[in-house]
Amino acid sequence: QNTSADNIPVLAQRLVEAMHEPFDVGAHQLVIGVSIGIASTSDVADLETDTLIKNADLALYRAKEDGRGTYRFFEAAMDARLQARRRMELDLQTSLEQEQFTLLYQPLVDTGRGRVSGFEALLRWHHPERGTVSPVEFIPVAEETGLIKAIGAWVLRQACADAAAWPEGVKVAVNLSPVQFNARNLVEVVSHALALSGLAPNRLELEITESVLLQDTGDVLETLHRLHALGVRIAMDDFGTGYSSLSYLQRFPFDKIKIDQAFIHQLTEKTDSVAIVRAVIGLGRSLGIAILAEGVETKEQLAILQTEGCWDVQGFLFSQP
Ligand code: C2E
Ligand code: MG
Ligand code: MG
Repeated sequence: QNTSADNIPVLAQRLVEAMHEPFDVGAHQLVIGVSIGIASTSDVADLETDTLIKNADLALYRAKEDGRGTYRFFEAAMDARLQARRRMELDLQTSLEQEQFTLLYQPLVDTGRGRVSGFEALLRWHHPERGTVSPVEFIPVAEETGLIKAIGAWVLRQACADAAAWPEGVKVAVNLSPVQFNARNLVEVVSHALALSGLAPNRLELEITESVLLQDTGDVLETLHRLHALGVRIAMDDFGTGYSSLSYLQRFPFDKIKIDQAFIHQLTEKTDSVAIVRAVIGLGRSLGIAILAEGVETKEQLAILQTEGCWDVQGFLFSQP
């Protein structure tokens, strides 16, 4: 009733709490939540209803980003962020035809045999004004717009073509986005890249993160099995960072687990990281899955890994991408 500006946070908080209470529908108890975005006429110079609603929407997105079940007020910076994102979306549209992508390769080192077993392809976007953009920045935008399908297909073709010129036995690893699994034709895209390049399928390793399996549809597993049937290897990337990485190991016969760099970076400071790495190595051994440690930067980290029995590594200690 009292909507003076001071009371808005109080009202918003009450709504959030009230909506969070479980309630009964027939025989079922339901729990839902609400996120709230707030915009005020005082935010806008010459008020238009559309602008007001758009601002409230932006604030709502922020509330959701910040974990849902909360409220946020509109701030001008939110608008600036959206504009920047729109510009990136537009720039990405033309990036493929303008040949602005390159692949860098980072060696996967088998320190037991003292040799390079393969290279991971890491995508870079060279924009005329932005300079080189990190995949961490543009891949989420490419995923949201669906462009990642075309970009990902390019990555597969390019990586397979490059690898076909490498010595026999040297593999290439390619990262796949969960969004590429939504496209019906992923298996065809992969087999096409192999056929075009003449690369033997067992020299291609596809890296997926658990977010692919989080989509939790029979389709995803079927696609993974069909990729496996081509002879391609499947690796789980960033292992240990997700919610239920362990249970995913039961659902698909991964060929390799890549221990996330967060654990490796803490090896020398945190004994629990050593325990976790040791456990993953043991898991790999008993399940017959190869283990590789990502993000190895120091000799100390390497020494600990080798003591624990992990000989396959990747990181700045050996080479930048
Ligand atoms: P990722 O697949 O886990 O790749 C490893 C990342 O760690 C790379 O970052 C690499 O440059 C970095 N790195 C390697 N060694 C070290 C180290 O010793 N220390 C530190 N601090 N970092 C190290 P990059 O190239 O920026 O890629 C970031 C992420 O972007 C990748 O993580 C991957 O998830 C994604 N990505 C890269 N290329 C592609 C692509 O072609 N397609 C898709 N869908 N995602 C890609
Ligand atoms: Mg990777
Ligand atoms: Mg990784």
